[in-house]
Amino acid sequence: MKDCIFCQIGEHELPAQIVFEDEEVVAFKDINPKAPVHILIIPKKHIPTVNHIGQKDVKLLGTLVIRAKDIAKKLQIDQNGYRLVFNTGTHSGQVVDHIHLHLLGGGPLGSIA
Ligand code: 5GP
Ligand code: ZN
Repeated sequence: MKDCIFCQIGEHELPAQIVFEDEEVVAFKDINPKAPVHILIIPKKHIPTVNHIGQKDVKLLGTLVIRAKDIAKKLQIDQNGYRLVFNTGTHSGQVVDHIHLHLLGGGPLGSIA
């Protein structure tokens, strides 16, 4: 998707502080962190929101979660804990229409649920 900033980060057309990359996934530091550690894990494939996920995406979505927990371990926040979030749609505050898994940690997080 030409106009999608996360597709552009995935294709290295826009700069980002990348912490992990493989054929399917890129993970980079959030530009406006909401926690001491705030990483976004995205598929290179453009999927706008969780509402657009289908059965064909099950493996890819599982891979995002596995990559997230591996990054949490690499950044040494796995033992104290972290939060994984997919914002979806207006009420959640989703502003980038390319699915991204937020990895938040590095200190106590406010309760949300
Ligand atoms: P959302 O609210 O859509 O779930 O989260 C989008 C996140 O992307 C926000 O936390 C925001 O700070 C981050 N973000 C938006 N634009 C950029 C960018 O160009 N680079 C990086 N690294 N993060 C971005
Ligand atoms: Zn995209």
